Amino acid sequence: MTDKELYDKAEEAMLFSYSPYSNYKIGAAVLTKCGKVFTGCNIENASYGATICGERTALVKAISEGNKEFEAIAIAGSDESVPSFPCGICRQFIFEFGSDIRIILKERGKLKTYTISELLPKGFKL
Ligand SMILES: [Zn+2]
Repeated sequence: MTDKELYDKAEEAMLFSYSPYSNYKIGAAVLTKCGKVFTGCNIENASYGATICGERTALVKAISEGNKEFEAIAIAGSDESVPSFPCGICRQFIFEFGSDIRIILKERGKLKTYTISELLPKGFKL
């Protein structure tokens, strides 16, 4: 699967976003090392702390179905003027499952790729 194909799946997942408070929709698609794709979107809550990001939704779906090895995660946001970098919690959440997982997102209209280690240098590991 190409980065573009994975990103397209993230954009599709964005359609299911529940984001009445921020109006900022996020979709994510995670690619496992064995080639499966799991998607997720951000799901907000009136109790803001209960909100979950799209990246973690996708990863939770994958992990809860027995997948723990990931190649890449694509993240699409509804406001393309702002790159949809993962938040700090998501960076740590992704890092837990591998320091070389690729993060694919759009910056100035073009797909860009980072490793999670670039976005979270010296991530926390037990
Ligand atoms: Zn997040």
